[in-house]
Amino acid sequence: MKEIFLLKLGEIVLKGANKRQFESRLRQNVRRRMKYYGNFDVYLMQSTLYVEPMDDSCDVDGAWEACSSIFGVVSLCRSRACEKNLDAIFNAIEEYLGDDLDCARSFKVESKRSDKAFPMTSIQLSQDIGGRLAEAHPHVEVDVHHPDYTVFVEIRDLAAYVHGPAVPGAGGLPTGVGGRAMVLLSGGIDSPVAAYMIAKRGVEVEAVHFFSYPYTSQLAKDKVLELARLVTRFSGKMTVNVVGFTEIQEAIRDKCPEEYFTLIMRRFMMEISMRLAKHDGCGALITGENLGQVASQTMEAMAVTGAVVDIPIFMPLIGMDKEEIVTIARKIGTLETSILPYEDCCTVFTPKHPKTKPTLEQLLYAERNLDREALITRAMDNIEKFKLEYYDEPRI
Ligand code: ATP
Ligand code: MG
Repeated sequence: MKEIFLLKLGEIVLKGANKRQFESRLRQNVRRRMKYYGNFDVYLMQSTLYVEPMDDSCDVDGAWEACSSIFGVVSLCRSRACEKNLDAIFNAIEEYLGDDLDCARSFKVESKRSDKAFPMTSIQLSQDIGGRLAEAHPHVEVDVHHPDYTVFVEIRDLAAYVHGPAVPGAGGLPTGVGGRAMVLLSGGIDSPVAAYMIAKRGVEVEAVHFFSYPYTSQLAKDKVLELARLVTRFSGKMTVNVVGFTEIQEAIRDKCPEEYFTLIMRRFMMEISMRLAKHDGCGALITGENLGQVASQTMEAMAVTGAVVDIPIFMPLIGMDKEEIVTIARKIGTLETSILPYEDCCTVFTPKHPKTKPTLEQLLYAERNLDREALITRAMDNIEKFKLEYYDEPRI
C-alpha cells in the first residue's frame, strides 16, 4: 500500500458560500504544483485534499516538501491507506509507524470515523488498536493524557488512513482567491517578506523593480530576480517588471532640491507601479515600508508618496519590529539573499539631510522643473519582463 498525503484545509472551511470556489482553487493550485513531481491524483473529500502518487516514478519527497508551502493548507501529514478492518489497520501501523513508535516513551491512538457505517465507535477502535500496539511494543507505555507520540487512525469513505502527528502547513488562503496585487520589490529584506504576507492572503502577486544602471549593477538586478524566485515557492508564478530608472533619477538630481530627492523618486516609483498595476489587472500595491525605519517612512513622507496613487497600498510590515521581519525572512528563505551586499537605486543619490516632515505643496514645488509625464511614459516604454517560477535555475 502506498503513501498518501492528507492536506487539511484551514480557514477556508469556514467560508460559507465561497467555500466551493476556495476549495476548487486550492485543488487546482495543488494539482499544478504536483506536476513537477510526477503523476499525482489530487482529490477533495470531507474538507481534506488527498494527494496520491499514481506510479513509482513520482518524487514523493519533493512533492511533500512542495505541499508544505501551499497557501490554504493548515496542516498536513503523510499517511498510509489500508482496508477498513482492524487487522489491516494494525498491520499498516506496524509497517508504517512502528519505528517511530519504538522511539517514543509513551503513546496513544486517536481515531476519527467519518464513515459512519464502520461498525465500531472511534473510542472502541482506539482501544482495540491501542491494545494490540501495547502488546507489540511492551516497552512503550500507553498514556492517553500526555503521550509522547500519537497514532492517528481515520476511517473515511474510500479507505482507512494511518499516520503520525500532522505538521503545520503554510496557512493563509489559496493563491488566486483574493485578486492580484503589484509588489514594489527591492533587493532588501522587507519587500520580499511583504510580498509573501499578502500572497498568504490568497493574492496573486506581480512585481516591479526599479533599476538604475550603471549606478546599480547587473548583480543587483539578479539579486532581485532571485528574491522573486524564492517568493514563488509560496506565491506560485510571478512576473517581474524591471523598469529602467536612470533617466528619472538623473533628472531629479539635476533639477530638484537635494533634500527632496528620495521623496520625489518614491513618488515616481509609486505612480509608475500604479499604472503598471492597473494595466495588468492588479487592484493594489504592496510595499515593505515600516513606520519610522528610515526618513522616507514617516507618516508625512508616506502621505506625499501615497498622494500619487488612487488604489490601496498594502504595507503589511508597517507596525513590525525589524527582528520580527527578519524572523519571517529567515523562515521563507529570502534572508540570505537579501543580505548580499548589492546596492539599491534608493541609495544612489541619497540626500545628506532628507526631509522627514514634508508637505504636498513643498513636493509639488520641488518637482516643478520636471516633465513628469514624459519621464514616466519613457520609463514605461522600456520595461523588461521576467516570468519566474520556483523551478527555474537560481539566479545567483
Ligand atoms: P526593503 O528592505 O524592502 O528594501 P527598505 O527598508 O530598504 O525596504 P526603502 O528602501 O525605503 O526601505 O524602500 C521602501 C519600500 O519601497 C521597499 O520595501 C519596496 O517596497 C520599495 N522599493 C524601494 N526600492 C525599490 C526598488 N528599487 N524597486 C522597487 N521597489 C522599491
Ligand atoms: Mg531598500
